[in-house]
Amino acid sequence: MSDFIRASSLSGYSDCPRRAAARLFRQEIEAAGYILHETPQGIGASVGTSIHAAAALTLTEKANTGSLAPLSAVTDCAVETYRETVADGVMFDQKTPSSHDAERQIVGMAAAYNRVLAPRIEPIAIEEQLEADTPFGLVLTGRGDVLAREKNRIRDLKCGQKRSNHKPQLGAYSLLYKANGYEVETCAEDFLQRVGSKKPQPDPLTFPHDIAAAETAALSVLRHIASDIRVFREGDPAMGVMPGDPWAFAANPSSMLCHPKYCSAHGTDWCAEHMAKEAE
Ligand code: SF4
Repeated sequence: MSDFIRASSLSGYSDCPRRAAARLFRQEIEAAGYILHETPQGIGASVGTSIHAAAALTLTEKANTGSLAPLSAVTDCAVETYRETVADGVMFDQKTPSSHDAERQIVGMAAAYNRVLAPRIEPIAIEEQLEADTPFGLVLTGRGDVLAREKNRIRDLKCGQKRSNHKPQLGAYSLLYKANGYEVETCAEDFLQRVGSKKPQPDPLTFPHDIAAAETAALSVLRHIASDIRVFREGDPAMGVMPGDPWAFAANPSSMLCHPKYCSAHGTDWCAEHMAKEAE
């Protein structure tokens, strides 16, 4: 049976492979006897999903008619998507302490996307689900935000409080598009910042990346995942790792996300590495 690895999971893998494994291989880890807990959905993810829905709406309209969707349709789509994503609850943060704040932010962010980014983008493919074999026996999957005609550019939209490293994810999209017959020349991250709801919404910024380096970064992470899961299944006597041992995956208790809110392994038998830090 093939292992399917999402492009969006690559960028965070190196931050803590054991936390990432708890997501990527959750069923297999639980079948091995470990009990993982659920992590609450964060407001950042809900806002991001909402803005992506609005972006896809306006770009699809542009692909079909040559014109962007009306601003009211774009912001309505964003807010409706937000309400759907938080129907079962969400964990707010300091930047977004309530749904009232979230909806104000979402309207501002969707409007900024429609005003600044969408007019520059001539879409070739929008949110297309893709799959590709990799040299390591893993199947890469992913849904790129948009492949744009200008510079045959992969554009990946990020909506966080601050920028982060997304090079492996961009590289994965490049591998996916190419494996599915698309011509790709460049890639870039479009960064639309989530700021406090009482602050003016900054315009989005675009950060191009070297596409060859991004692909290498993606392949490097995929190689690590393939090696780690093989060791988990088969063990590695030279390392003193038996089959089913969590140490098939390195742990990083110094990660900013080493917290039960973000890590389903925190405080479980799958990972007690944070304990040493807490006991100091
Ligand atoms: S508890 Fe910390 S070190 Fe352990 S898997 Fe989670 S993030 Fe990584």
